[in-house]
Amino acid sequence: MPKGHSKTPRERRSDESAAVERVFAGSPVGAGVAIGTAFRQDSRAAFNVREFAIPPTKVRSEQHRLLEAAAKATARLETLQTEAKQMGNAAGEELGYLIEAYQQMLSGSRLIRGVQRRIAADNINAEAAVLKEIGLMSEAFASMDDPYLAARVQDVREVGRRLVEALGTGASGLKARKSYPKNAIIIADELSPADTALLDPDQVIGLATMLGGVESHTAIVARSLGIPAVVAAADMMDGIANGDTVIVDGQSGQVIVSPTAETLKLYRQHRATFLKTQQSLKKLKTVPAVTLDGFAIKLQANVELPSEVESVLASGAEGIGLFRSEFMFMNRPDLPGEEEQFKALAGVVKSMAGRPVTVRTLDVGADKLGNLVGLKPGPNPALGLRAIRFSLSRRKLLMTQLSAILRASALGPIRILLPMVSIVEEVREVRRIIARIAARLLAKKVRLPNPLPPLGIMIEIPGAALSADALAAEADFFAIGTNDLTQYTLAIDRTDEQVAYLYNPLHPAVLRLIQFSAEAASAAGIPVSVCGEIAGDDRLTPLLLGFGITELSMAPASVPKVKKRILELNLAAITGRVRQITAESDPGRIRTLLDEIAPPESRA
Ligand code: PEP
Ligand code: MG
Repeated sequence: MPKGHSKTPRERRSDESAAVERVFAGSPVGAGVAIGTAFRQDSRAAFNVREFAIPPTKVRSEQHRLLEAAAKATARLETLQTEAKQMGNAAGEELGYLIEAYQQMLSGSRLIRGVQRRIAADNINAEAAVLKEIGLMSEAFASMDDPYLAARVQDVREVGRRLVEALGTGASGLKARKSYPKNAIIIADELSPADTALLDPDQVIGLATMLGGVESHTAIVARSLGIPAVVAAADMMDGIANGDTVIVDGQSGQVIVSPTAETLKLYRQHRATFLKTQQSLKKLKTVPAVTLDGFAIKLQANVELPSEVESVLASGAEGIGLFRSEFMFMNRPDLPGEEEQFKALAGVVKSMAGRPVTVRTLDVGADKLGNLVGLKPGPNPALGLRAIRFSLSRRKLLMTQLSAILRASALGPIRILLPMVSIVEEVREVRRIIARIAARLLAKKVRLPNPLPPLGIMIEIPGAALSADALAAEADFFAIGTNDLTQYTLAIDRTDEQVAYLYNPLHPAVLRLIQFSAEAASAAGIPVSVCGEIAGDDRLTPLLLGFGITELSMAPASVPKVKKRILELNLAAITGRVRQITAESDPGRIRTLLDEIAPPESRA
């Protein structure tokens, strides 16, 4: 049953004077409970852009980007024009005139020339220049004492909105850092991962979105920032106003608006219990993650932002099992150079003080940086030129990144991880490229480790899992990315809340692929970890250990609770049991049976 069907808000009034309490059901992202003040953010708002200073050398390319966007916006209007003609009525005719007017404004008009000049004069990005120019033109129109011209303000703004959209800022994270009210809880229709990465947990204590899935990158970033969140809370925005008191329950997935005194009391208690549990788990920081029968498990952390390194160290993780390098490419109009990437990586490697850092090469496409400079979304971005495919098609970009990683590997143990590998040739090609870059660096007397860093691959495509034996002969290690493996095995877009009810890593097909990959790695004698979100779910720890997986990488906040579960498990006793459990076909039943092995008490 699709979740959306049960999402009618519940209402309750505690007394005559109080506002009505409304409860919206969504999907829980975790990190506890937040009680704060609603701050609405509508991603469809037109002019939500950030101003960047651009160097004089970039002015021409920025102007060019503007012209490309104008052409793109014109082409989109062309499609609309065809639809208007097909309407074949007076409304269609009227719309046709309007579209023509928009197209004129986009073709070398005063607006476009003005924006071009402003980019050069103010040395700012195209989006900000559009915003300024639109502002000036709107003011000029509005001041005319003519209702017809005053109404044109709307048209100018609409053209500006289309231009900004075509520039790609819609999801590129070029939105401004806002000043939020104290204890803000963001209430949004949707939030891009890049925008989420800009949130400051000291200001924003919770978030809830109407769209998105629990394994989407937005959810992952929220989890890594430790911000309690709920996604897929349908119709929520109509029922929440700015300033409303809101509870975001990242555990149950509920968003409670204008809670009654009784509900507030209950949630304050929940929150206190959650914080107390977190506090007591901290004591495990230096305790080794060893099962009751003496099997040592390596617990590592996933990192989205360099600022997280501190929480990685605080969590007691033994290293970084997945360093998502995308952050370096986020919230900017250009690509980072080698030096900049090297400095960022060097900082992380040094802070990790000898603990391993697994750096994944750029993993873009679909919901991840879908509009990175030069990335052209194909008909189906999730299945298109993304991740390692994109990097291999943009050699310079890949070489720049690999060169920075190799240089940083002289400062501490680094492993290189390739995202979304599907065939052995991709691994071989990257290995050749690494060898060439290393030779070039050595010729320049740059210090490099000998041997060079291990080269591993993500197993996140069913075809890769099924050919894991062949891939294991080429790769130095595997990291099983169950978020994408689930998405691709079950044909469920991980960001689409409409089909989220079917997204389940415990589906027998996904479990078999994990098991097959783990066995292939073990037969080839290479290390294998799981670094998808299930690695941080302590209810599933027995399952993964039962599959013979001894390395897990997860959000730093999950490390202590997973460690606690490991300390309670007897691996020899559960292995056979896990085999029986996975013979079940119902994911819900599998979960329940896993809980029965040794109930996870650590969940607050
Ligand atoms: C995964 O797909 O499981 C994974 C860890 O990679 P990401 O979530 O960054 O796509
Ligand atoms: Mg992935």
